[in-house]
Amino acid sequence: MWSKQSILRDIISFLINRSQQFQQQLEKPYVLFASELMHSLCWMKLNYSKNLINKARITSEKIAMKTTTNHYDVIIIGTGASGGTLAHRLALTGKKILVLERGDFLPREKDNWSAKEVYQKERYHTDEDWYDKDGKAFRPQTGYWVGGNTKLYGAALLRLRERDFEQVIHKGGISPEWELKYEDFEPYYTQAEKLYDVHGERGKDPTEPPCSESYPYPAVSHEPDMQALADCIHKLGYYPFHLPLGLKLNESDRTKSPCIRCDTFDGYPCLVGAKADADVNAIRPTREAYSNLTLITNAKVLQLHTSASGREVTAVETDVNGELYQFSADIVVVACGAINSAALLLRSANDKHPNGLANSSDRVGRNFMKHQAIALLSIHLEPNRANFQKTIAVNDFYWGEPDFPYPMGMVQNSGNVLPDMIPAEAPPLLAPYVKLIPGFELHLMAERSVGWWLQTEDLPHPNNRVRVVGDKLHLDYTLNNTEAADRLVHRWTSVLKSIERNAMHVIPFSLYPRNNIPLQAVGHQCGTCCFGSDPKTSVLDLNCRTHDVDNLYVVDGSFFPSNSGVNPTLTIMANALRVGDAIAERLMVVLHSKENPGF
Ligand SMILES: Cc1cc2nc3c(=O)[nH]c(=O)nc-3n(C[C@H](O)[C@H](O)[C@H](O)COP(=O)(O)OP(=O)(O)OC[C@H]3O[C@@H](n4cnc5c(N)ncnc54)[C@H](O)[C@@H]3O)c2cc1C
Ligand code: SF4
Repeated sequence: MWSKQSILRDIISFLINRSQQFQQQLEKPYVLFASELMHSLCWMKLNYSKNLINKARITSEKIAMKTTTNHYDVIIIGTGASGGTLAHRLALTGKKILVLERGDFLPREKDNWSAKEVYQKERYHTDEDWYDKDGKAFRPQTGYWVGGNTKLYGAALLRLRERDFEQVIHKGGISPEWELKYEDFEPYYTQAEKLYDVHGERGKDPTEPPCSESYPYPAVSHEPDMQALADCIHKLGYYPFHLPLGLKLNESDRTKSPCIRCDTFDGYPCLVGAKADADVNAIRPTREAYSNLTLITNAKVLQLHTSASGREVTAVETDVNGELYQFSADIVVVACGAINSAALLLRSANDKHPNGLANSSDRVGRNFMKHQAIALLSIHLEPNRANFQKTIAVNDFYWGEPDFPYPMGMVQNSGNVLPDMIPAEAPPLLAPYVKLIPGFELHLMAERSVGWWLQTEDLPHPNNRVRVVGDKLHLDYTLNNTEAADRLVHRWTSVLKSIERNAMHVIPFSLYPRNNIPLQAVGHQCGTCCFGSDPKTSVLDLNCRTHDVDNLYVVDGSFFPSNSGVNPTLTIMANALRVGDAIAERLMVVLHSKENPGF
């Protein structure tokens, strides 16, 4: 006897087996019917193996791609902090959404947590070459995965300070005002903190802006050695606080905690899916819950084509696993990260947009910022036994100090320093030791280290920019505001020395090797398509829609007019939610206008 399930299973198997034929030979309506049928079957709670359902789903997506009716309500390009978050928000609208991602799902493998693979061999970074301002090739530390760079990020999720939205005078120049203010972002910060499982404690960070709700989860606790360090810093008159982190950690019942507080947090993918990244927290749950969202991986968008007037994007030219496809949508959102988004617009130049798409202001790619970041090690006599060290943050110097009334930036722990990380990250000062000492001594040095990450705002400058020359991506960048960064390093080193003098367990001679993070580290990229109300001085309007092209949005860190001194990603996520609301509102208007052509 044939059960209903076995009949359906046979239909799915038949459709999978004949998919090649469907793509090449059959009439379009039949292909569409097959595609829709398979899609629906995928979502029915039938007793099939996941493998079969996945195969059916992939096949249905392939069939849909091959048809010429690849029209969607919204196309989102990129699945990182911005694209993933936006997809999560827009799926709620029920509209037909296509997400194009040039990478694949990051494989779960033991190497996720191998310092050698991740730091020395850069297993999860692209092997592309980009070019610096002197034309010298470098390999950017950026990853193309579902979830984008959040797969590797340190998940320190902080709000900008209220004053960061105002014009601020720095020692090295001016950080410009944003036309939207902290109050405009506040509700979205709260939503983003919930979406990305942020753990923190309000009221301890001396520069914290007003917040309408407490953090969704309690702060990640300091392990005893880190607590001792925080206590020493506090005794010196400073206000260390728990770094707000996005992860799935249950410290009150560790048996229920996906996160195991391991020593490979910052810069590594999470093998157990416990880091709150855009793949795990946004893309996967959205795909599972909403059948109106289609994700195509290994889909690199090459160019955006416009109508003859140049006022709307009509085709998204995409290389999917080596084959070219054209997709279209009422609304197209670019979320490739600030560098690649600018590059995509520049590569999409046409007769109506000779300097790059949406570039009448000549601002696309300019004002690139990435933070001045410095990694500092304090090496102690006794081992640092903390397994998860990235818990302390200090903002006492954020706005400067009495004899230096200019912003200096933020201090936070980096992730653990592991022996296999040292050769890759070895600062010049440490390099001779690294070369000479045998592995076990490296090991001793690593386990006695505390890693610090110091970051200072860099200021927008039109000559710091993304350029596309032929098929090459150039990143022209000259550091600025460096006095403030130097000041922060010296100040923090003197704080660490004071701790040494007061504590028993540190080495008698000071060794504080520092490493100025090079251009390759583009994790905090932003500012290449800044937003504003004046089309002459900005690329995007205040809803991140391009001034020049009606249906084109850019939603990643490109929109930042200035960079602030805190990590950028919570602001990128909050903004994606904000822009998502604006797009949802617009979609309703567009639908309405289709029904009433006079609108
Ligand atoms: C090691 C590391 C640590 C970090 N730690 C922190 C931290 O602790 N706190 C913090 O706030 N920030 C941190 N960051 C920065 C953070 O990862 C980024 O701010 C964030 O990921 C930016 O989001 P995005 O959506 O703009 O870009 P991304 O996350 O880079 O996403 C862009 C996506 O677009 C895709 N894409 C690009 N081009 C195309 C194309 N042509 N076609 C299709 N798809 C394309 C990419 O594959 C990618 O998935 C860190 C970054 C790194 C690398
Ligand atoms: S510390 Fe937690 S979230 Fe981070 S990699 Fe380890 S298990 Fe994953």
